[in-house]
Amino acid sequence: MTHPIHDATRPVAAPLSVAQRMCLQDLLDEEWRAQVRQLTGLATAYHSAESAGDDRGTDQLSAALAVVRRRLIDVEAALARLESRTYGVCDGCDRRLPFEQLEMNPLARFCTGCQPVC
Ligand SMILES: [Zn+2]
Repeated sequence: MTHPIHDATRPVAAPLSVAQRMCLQDLLDEEWRAQVRQLTGLATAYHSAESAGDDRGTDQLSAALAVVRRRLIDVEAALARLESRTYGVCDGCDRRLPFEQLEMNPLARFCTGCQPVC
């Protein structure tokens, strides 16, 4: 990964307002509930596949469970950052992320300039 060149002309995003923080908290809470619902559904399906002796089914379901668990951890980490007020700051360059970007992806950890390229 190459280190991004800092562009001094790039505007600095305004700090999040109380209303914006509440909006993001709601989005994250909703996302958390959605992941928990999915996890519950997958766990139930996993146990039925297991008792039916469906090895292929349990393999697929445990892979799906791992993805949802990972996502749930990410959502919880974002909620913890929101709580500790380190939320919304780029991990790459310490600039604040604009609200518009966080609203689209409340789990964002990088500004558009530092977005790791996969
Ligand atoms: Zn950055």
